[in-house]
Amino acid sequence: MPELIEVELYRKAATRTIGRTISAVSISSNKYLREGTSSADLRSVVSGSQLGNVRRIGKLLLLEVGTAVIGVRFGMTGRLIVDGEVTINELLYTTNEVQERHIRFSVEFDDGGTLAVIDPRGFGNVELNPDESLLGPDALGISEGGFREICHNSKSTLKALLLDQRKISGIGNLLCDEILWRSGIAPSRISRSLNTKEIKRVASEVKGTIKDLAKRGGSHMGKLQSERHENGVCPLDGFPLSRSTVAGRTSWWCPEHQL
Ligand SMILES: [Zn+2]
Repeated sequence: MPELIEVELYRKAATRTIGRTISAVSISSNKYLREGTSSADLRSVVSGSQLGNVRRIGKLLLLEVGTAVIGVRFGMTGRLIVDGEVTINELLYTTNEVQERHIRFSVEFDDGGTLAVIDPRGFGNVELNPDESLLGPDALGISEGGFREICHNSKSTLKALLLDQRKISGIGNLLCDEILWRSGIAPSRISRSLNTKEIKRVASEVKGTIKDLAKRGGSHMGKLQSERHENGVCPLDGFPLSRSTVAGRTSWWCPEHQL
């Protein structure tokens, strides 16, 4: 958390600031800057400039300022506040309280408005001109052919592949388990062992699950979510869920219908 769904909401909220002139930018600590970005560079690039387009690739929010781009990653608990309004009030794993000390990055506009990142755990970061070529296609925009190609070329488990932001962008742990559960594929399946039908199903569930969960209110609103605990059962067939570590992440899945 936050995953593609949440960052897309942040992007939409941030579009309200397009065209405004930036009067100041501040960062809580150099630790919140990605290596290679200094606060002096950030200030010299943005002060007095207008905020241009606002884009997103996967979980990375991109704010265009002149010829520069500010990349914002939200880590585990980051939320965007635009003109004092918190974009998502009920984010899992975080406090909903807004505390001044948790504001890591903020942009002030000459009209008095602000765009700020509040991140209690502080695992997110800000980077000037991030290398966008390191990211795979956005999960919401990947074609079935594109997905087939990354599957065929991957010796990793499907869970690891879906979480690998260099191959496909925007899917985090909760979304991944929900996609696999809906697709009926075990998280430990080797990607290139998937047959044509299975690839088609997963590619369709990647988009379908994102769209459905966005409507339901976020990445934590999956059908599997309430059963991610000891003694949890599959909402589809009632079979006890298994918990295992796949790709270094806790995975909940159904050994009955996920093959
Ligand atoms: Zn099941």
